Amino acid sequence: MFATNPEDTMKISQRALAIAPSPTIAMSSRAKAMRAQGQDVISFDVGEPDFPTPENICRAACDAIAAGHTKYTPAAGLPKLKEAIVQATARDVGLQYDPAQVVVSNGGKHALMNIWESIVDPGDEVIVFAPYWVSYPAQIELCGGRAVVIPTRGEDDFQPDLDQVRTALSDRTIALLINSPSNPAGAIFTEATMRGLAEIAVEGDLLIISDEIYKHILFDGRKHLSTAQLGEEVKSRTILADGVAKTYAMTGWRIGWLIAPKEIAKRAGDIQSQETSNPNTPAQYAAIEALLGPQDSVATMRAEFERRRDYLVPALCEMAGIKCNKPGGAFYVFPDISAHVGRTLNGTPIPTDLALAEYLLEKALISAVPGSAFGSDGYIRFSFATSMELLQEGMRRLREALS
Ligand code: GLU
Repeated sequence: MFATNPEDTMKISQRALAIAPSPTIAMSSRAKAMRAQGQDVISFDVGEPDFPTPENICRAACDAIAAGHTKYTPAAGLPKLKEAIVQATARDVGLQYDPAQVVVSNGGKHALMNIWESIVDPGDEVIVFAPYWVSYPAQIELCGGRAVVIPTRGEDDFQPDLDQVRTALSDRTIALLINSPSNPAGAIFTEATMRGLAEIAVEGDLLIISDEIYKHILFDGRKHLSTAQLGEEVKSRTILADGVAKTYAMTGWRIGWLIAPKEIAKRAGDIQSQETSNPNTPAQYAAIEALLGPQDSVATMRAEFERRRDYLVPALCEMAGIKCNKPGGAFYVFPDISAHVGRTLNGTPIPTDLALAEYLLEKALISAVPGSAFGSDGYIRFSFATSMELLQEGMRRLREALS
């Protein structure tokens, strides 16, 4: 019908051309598609708690709908939810904020995007530690900024070298990004690391963006530590990003938030008012119940994640060619599988970690995300937000596939 395919000449922005899809989402979609075709794929890809959202939270959303709370709220979120966020933050980590510092968004990912859009100008640089969550550099780049990546290693328990951070600073550096506990390594920055980064931020007049989405999933009796807890000066330059998704098994509800200095929060709210308006209204009511209602499900889920970690880490370490750190939080393990890169496994050459992930998906029917997606080649991420039975079967398949 057409002389040329209109798709070939269609206008696509440079911004859109530069963006690759999220590898975590892509891997999970691929595993889902294989399952839909009847293949028995076990997913260790996406970080999504396998527990149902607690019943009291679901009920709060139903009650909100029944009460007619189905219309717009203020673009930056319901005042009552902002107050609940402030209250829960004070209760859980002892930090006091004003509700005017809070912007409620469509998930933690959106909260982060609002932050970058509020602070990043073209050419600005943000220090990001690898392994990093896949979307950080992509989001910064969407705003015209540059992620300056500082590598960390399993041998150092994924702690950054502070001298390397100082060397990486330039007159375009505007912020440091911290994610502790981290995705994908479940790593926790030590107090010395946090204090060092806080000092660098204060000396260099930098912001700290602290993604605290895993702060309730901590193991071995650990307590959460954020740079915002290290004194007023560093608190005033720390922007928190958080949400209900991981703590309350509410990934699909899409409620996250930022807590920032008032001027930044105002700008982020203005941006959101133009881009999306408020996040889903009944979900905001559910989030109030999540934050202020009974908290016992948080402890139950946390304990189960710890039990799974305690199974998974030794199971991985027993396999030849795998070195695995013990994550201090979150629900991921990030083993070093570099000994298998360069091998040929059952006739399949494995030149990269991506090839290994492909091989595991095709041949062993287990889906995991290659370390290169997180800026750390030679590793692979397994999410243990999945049942113990599936973890055990997955490890059996992995052992067989690597032998
Ligand atoms: N944060 C989760 C993960 O890393 C959810 C998926 C995503 O948004 O990347 O798997």
